[in-house]
Amino acid sequence: MLRVNYFASVCSISLRASRVAEATARPRGFSSSVARNKQSLVILGSGWGGYEVLRGVDKKRWDVTMLSASGYFNFTPLLAGCAVGTLEFRCAVEPVRRYTPQVTAYQAWCDSIDFKQKTLQCMPATPPLTFEKAVAPIEEITPTGGLSHFAGTGTGFTQRYDKLVIAVGAYAQTFNVPGVKAHAHFLKDVRDARRIRTRILECFEQANQPTLSDVERRNLLNFCIVGGGPTGVEFAAELHDLLHSDIRRHYPSLAAMAKINLYDVAPNILGTFDRSLASYAEQSFRRDGISIRTNHHVEKVEKGKMFVKEQGEVAFGLLVWSTGLAPNPLITSISQLAKDEKTSSLLTDDNLNVITKDGGMPDPDVWAIGDAAVMQDQRLPATAQVANQKAKYIVKKLNKIAKGQNSTKPFEFHNQGSLAYVGDWKAIYDRSGAENVKTKESGRLAWLLWRSAYFTQTLSLRNKILVPTYW
Ligand SMILES: Cc1cc2nc3c(=O)[nH]c(=O)nc-3n(C[C@H](O)[C@H](O)[C@H](O)COP(=O)(O)OP(=O)(O)OC[C@H]3O[C@@H](n4cnc5c(N)ncnc54)[C@H](O)[C@@H]3O)c2cc1C
Repeated sequence: MLRVNYFASVCSISLRASRVAEATARPRGFSSSVARNKQSLVILGSGWGGYEVLRGVDKKRWDVTMLSASGYFNFTPLLAGCAVGTLEFRCAVEPVRRYTPQVTAYQAWCDSIDFKQKTLQCMPATPPLTFEKAVAPIEEITPTGGLSHFAGTGTGFTQRYDKLVIAVGAYAQTFNVPGVKAHAHFLKDVRDARRIRTRILECFEQANQPTLSDVERRNLLNFCIVGGGPTGVEFAAELHDLLHSDIRRHYPSLAAMAKINLYDVAPNILGTFDRSLASYAEQSFRRDGISIRTNHHVEKVEKGKMFVKEQGEVAFGLLVWSTGLAPNPLITSISQLAKDEKTSSLLTDDNLNVITKDGGMPDPDVWAIGDAAVMQDQRLPATAQVANQKAKYIVKKLNKIAKGQNSTKPFEFHNQGSLAYVGDWKAIYDRSGAENVKTKESGRLAWLLWRSAYFTQTLSLRNKILVPTYW
């Protein structure tokens, strides 16, 4: 049944004369049972914000369309574990298709939004059809700098909405350091994790060739991570665990040559954590032989080497780049709405509605959540926790609106604290910024909290079984 409908949809694309086709009432949907009086809700993005809205919104009362460049949700805190093989890749994803046919889902990029006409211009994010060419070089439009998503088929379409939730997240920040996009790995998507895992094993197999000198081996087994935030730290920790378990078992002499280096321009790693916890992580890394190179500036990256101001040329086998967030090009393209000066994210009021630039009025039909948005009166961190809580708030609001009820209660953030894995079954837990029960924890207990927190948040029954099984 699904195949028949999909075939029909492909044909309908190819037969269109115009490049941009009008997506009228569900021309390519898999369901025909749409009640006429339902308002259409479009959710842009299937990450921590968008997927939670998809999960929670009343699909009987809303005509829901999920429009996302990826056909799945990434459980980002588990990506570092997937990249080193602690977890299988499927542990960190949940498919959008779980909610079809109740909702319509398009794997597509939204390129622009017309807030007056209430339309979105979209391009498929699926592989180009054999007779079509991708409209842009793939590297230019992927959030991660890699090949995570397809550029599109060249046949765009227009999607209408009555209500819109913008949850497109942010891209990886490179600070325009030359060569990063071409030669470094990012870690934002399960496909990035897959590429990193492949590269780690490739480095060991290359280093194992009998023709190599020890210098060449050491260069290949030099693993560099740029960015001392939680993502960089957790990846370094997971990589350390891998080197001291499976790698040591299978490549004992090479494991001794491997090195992990963590770079940051700041004087300390984990700047968003309580200072004593960040120091705990630093000490733990030093004991584990992970080099922390703070106050270091990477100036250029080339194939297999980077140029560091304080060190000169540094050869590497794998470089993972995680230096924060850059605005999503869709958000950059929006000129009608107010934006945050520092992050260029969309500004929202405390009901999470976007704010028009002219007049500064909230748009009652459009909300923005997650890494793509900042509240004008409350600066919250760009985390899954914030995106998820905002999404839950939007769900309540939408479900009330669908019942004709008023909902003006402002969004309130409840700080659950921050966690980071630091390797060797140890973690740090910082709840010093919470309103009540302020606490800090490090070591084994924090590690137990780290695991139980992510186990609790795992969404599907499948992953509730798989994740602890692999752990
Ligand atoms: C490796 C890693 C580990 C992390 N660990 C933690 C953690 O432990 N705790 C924590 O709180 N936070 C963590 N974070 C941060 C957290 O993942 C983000 O804050 C969160 O993903 C933001 O959610 P979002 O919905 O705004 O965006 P995302 O989750 O990034 O989702 C964006 C979605 O929009 C889609 N999209 C993008 N552009 C378009 C477009 N133009 N058209 C259509 N679709 C588009 C993407 O395909 C994606 O589906 C981590 C991040 C990473 C990368």
